[in-house]
Amino acid sequence: MDCIFCKIIKKESPSMIIYEDKDIIAFQNIRPLAPVHILVVPKEHIPSVDQLEEKHKDLVGKIFLTAKKVAADQGIAGAYKIVFNVGEGGGQIVFHLHLHLLGGWKSKEDIDMPGMP
Ligand code: AMP
Ligand code: ZN
Repeated sequence: MDCIFCKIIKKESPSMIIYEDKDIIAFQNIRPLAPVHILVVPKEHIPSVDQLEEKHKDLVGKIFLTAKKVAADQGIAGAYKIVFNVGEGGGQIVFHLHLHLLGGWKSKEDIDMPGMP
């Protein structure tokens, strides 16, 4: 399967890894839309939120808890956005489920994310 995030997970493609455990990897977005822009990605290849099933409940919880932990480690607790783009109509480009963790602005007026609500 030709999936860039699966390649990053298998270390076949380079990335700046922020966090990793047996289920999850978090790495720097190659084209950041905020001073902090990290992608939190399950290692299982699930194309998008639309393909989530009951069996993924624990994994989904873990994705959010990892985002919270990474945000704290990055010093942006209490000042970040979490975004999931879902499907082509929702602006999704990479069809391997991922959470966008965005933050690090000096003030709310600095928030400027083209293509991102
Ligand atoms: P989307 O599918 O629209 O939610 O966003 C995919 C995100 O993945 C974009 O923000 C890209 O900048 C990012 N991205 C694509 N390829 C890489 C890569 N090789 N390493 C890190 N981030 C990537
Ligand atoms: Zn994948």
